[in-house]
Amino acid sequence: MDFLSEIQSLDRGQTKKEIFRLIERLYPICRSITGNGLRETLSILSEVVPLAIHEVRSGEQANDWTVPPEWNIKDAWIKNSKGEKIVRFSDTNLHVLNYSEPVNKKVSLAELKKHLFTLPDKPGWVPYRTSYHNRNWGFCMSHKQFEQLEDETYQVFINSSLGPGSLTYGEFFVKGETGDEVLISTHICHPSLCNDNLSGIAVAAFAAAFLQKLKPKYSFRFLFVPATIGPITWLSRNEDKLKNIKYGLVLALLGDTGKFHYKKSRQADAEINFVVENVLRNKIADYKILNFSPYGYDERQYCSPGYNLPVGRLTRTPNGEYPEYHTSADNLDFVKGDKLVESLELLLHIFNTMENNASCLNLKPKGEPQLGKRGLFRSISGQGDVQEYQMALLWVLNLSDGEHSLLDISNEAAIDFSIIKQAAIALEKAKLLKQLD
Ligand code: ZN
Repeated sequence: MDFLSEIQSLDRGQTKKEIFRLIERLYPICRSITGNGLRETLSILSEVVPLAIHEVRSGEQANDWTVPPEWNIKDAWIKNSKGEKIVRFSDTNLHVLNYSEPVNKKVSLAELKKHLFTLPDKPGWVPYRTSYHNRNWGFCMSHKQFEQLEDETYQVFINSSLGPGSLTYGEFFVKGETGDEVLISTHICHPSLCNDNLSGIAVAAFAAAFLQKLKPKYSFRFLFVPATIGPITWLSRNEDKLKNIKYGLVLALLGDTGKFHYKKSRQADAEINFVVENVLRNKIADYKILNFSPYGYDERQYCSPGYNLPVGRLTRTPNGEYPEYHTSADNLDFVKGDKLVESLELLLHIFNTMENNASCLNLKPKGEPQLGKRGLFRSISGQGDVQEYQMALLWVLNLSDGEHSLLDISNEAAIDFSIIKQAAIALEKAKLLKQLD
């Protein structure tokens, strides 16, 4: 079966259940930029798609960065003077400032407050906070609870460790027919937050599993990496592979109900920008295109000037633009199975367009060739899509001058890429068209 038929035969109901089940399993794990939470996450993902798991030792250099000490945590809580645990890591791992150093001591309320993080304008939610590069300890709690704290002595306990270890990341590679590569990257360092980024992780894993069944033209490389330090580490160790990257996408925030946002690659004329815009225009009613900016997720690293790779970013509502972002409200209720499946299908259509794009040459370019005698033109047209298909034949013939790809033709004609492709196949069979590459 070809790529498009495989997408069309995707069992949406079953896929929705499976993606959601994966997110439910990953949700409770306390992830960070290093540590056992990452290993456990990658081990579960390996059940969906076989990952190569890499470990890079603490202290190793990655361009301007150093791989930090590994962080692990077993338990944490705050007890009041009656000995009651008022905050428990076991309720949600968001309660602990991610990368907190170990602590076990009695503190006054004033001292405790220096280590507490809350959201005064969202008083019922617990924030997600990190301190990767400055040694600190802390707790996150709802502002409602914070306001009720009595002036007494508290015991704070964080059973964590920071020491020599490694940074863990996962990689999946499908070898294609050509040396050109598609790079897909998603961040895996956030703890119990669903949209950011179990959604991106799950969509990437299911897309990778889908590709396993096919023999693609391009090679596809999927990176499951902790944000920032992960791609910098990978880039610094794989510079020989970068010249092969033809298309790249950073995936994140793909399970909320907001519209799709595609952020362009730093290279404004990179083909990835045209591919994604084309698929969004044809498959999705409402979406938004954003220009590149050096703020956001790991596109910042792939699109840094020393690499300047053709990598864009696909999300639904962007980072920081929904109230639940980086809070306990980014939970299992916030992400929707339908939206996750829609994101997966969109991604697969993007892959399909990359795989099937080509430049062709009209072999009878002097005047229109007679389509009727070749059975390509119907004298009486019926449904609208037949009309569109016949328009597609005319567009493909007219623009197949060696200067326009099928993607260009789809854009120019405002006709879905798959219909343009279907027309090109029919014209090739009728010996009116030749593929150039
Ligand atoms: Zn985030």
